[in-house]
Amino acid sequence: MQLSLAKQSKQTAEEAAQATSPLAIRGLTVSYGEKPAVFSVDMTVMPGQMTAIIGPNGAGKSTMLKAALGIVAPVSGRVQVFGRPLDHQRGRVAYVPQRASVDWDFPTRVIDVVMMGLYRDLGLLGRIRASHRRIARDCLDRVGMGEFAGRQIGQLSGGQQQRVFLARALAQGADLYLLDEPFAGVDAATEKAIIGVLKMLRAEGKTVVVVHHDLATVRDYFDNVFLINTRKVAEGPVETAFTAETLQAAYGGRLATAQIDQIATSA
Ligand code: ADP
Ligand code: MG
Repeated sequence: MQLSLAKQSKQTAEEAAQATSPLAIRGLTVSYGEKPAVFSVDMTVMPGQMTAIIGPNGAGKSTMLKAALGIVAPVSGRVQVFGRPLDHQRGRVAYVPQRASVDWDFPTRVIDVVMMGLYRDLGLLGRIRASHRRIARDCLDRVGMGEFAGRQIGQLSGGQQQRVFLARALAQGADLYLLDEPFAGVDAATEKAIIGVLKMLRAEGKTVVVVHHDLATVRDYFDNVFLINTRKVAEGPVETAFTAETLQAAYGGRLATAQIDQIATSA
C-alpha cells in the first residue's frame, strides 16, 4: 500500500513537471539513416531559466532542437510545449537556427527579416502597419542593430546577421527561445549583445535553451545543462550536472582530461 502510494506520488510529480515545463521531451529517437542521431532521450526544461545543450560534434544537439520544433520527424517519442503538443503552441516558440544553414542569395533588407517574426501576427494578407515596423525597430535596437535596418542582410558580418535573427525571434514575442550555437564564430561585441538579451529574456520570465559549444562560458551564462552524446548523459543545474565526470562521459577521449578538470572546477 505504502509502496504503491509512493509510486503514485512519483508519477504525479513527473506529470506535473511535464505539464509546467516549457519543453518536455520523452523517449525521443531520431534517425537520418540506420544509425540513430538521437536515441531514447528525455528532457525536461525548467521554466524561466537558461539551459545549455552541450556535447561533441555530431552528438545530436541540432537534431534535438529540430525534432522539438517538428522540423525533423522522430522515429519515436513525444514533445510537449507548455504541457501541450507543439501544434497548439507554435506561436510561443521562437527558433534561431545555426547560422551556416541560412543562405542569403536573395536580397532582403534587415528590417524585413525582423518583420518575418511578425508574420504570425500579420497573417498572409495582413497589412504591414506602422506599429509593426515600430516593433521590428525596437527589436533591432534591443540587439544593438537599429542603425542597420535598411541594409541588405547579406552585406552584414556573421555576428551582425546572428543579432538580426535574434531580433526576429524577439519580434515573435515567444515564451520559449531555442537557439542553435548563437555564439559560434561571432565577434566579442555580438556575443555580449546576445547574452545580454538572453539574460533580459530570462529576467522577463522567458525560457531560453541554447546549443552551446564553448565549455569555458557555461558557468557564467547558464543555470542548467543538458549533456548529450546521441543518448542523454546528464541533465540538471550547472553545479551538479556540469562536472568532470559528466564531461568525460559526454566527450570521452575528445577532450583532454586536464582540460575537463580545469573546466569543471573553475567556478
Ligand atoms: P550536432 O548538432 O550535435 O553537431 P547533429 O544533430 O547536427 O549534431 O547531427 C547528429 C548526427 O546526425 C550526425 O552524425 C550528423 O552527421 C547526422 N545528420 C545530421 N543531419 C543530417 C541529415 N540531414 N542527413 C543525414 N544525417 C544527418
Ligand atoms: Mg549542430
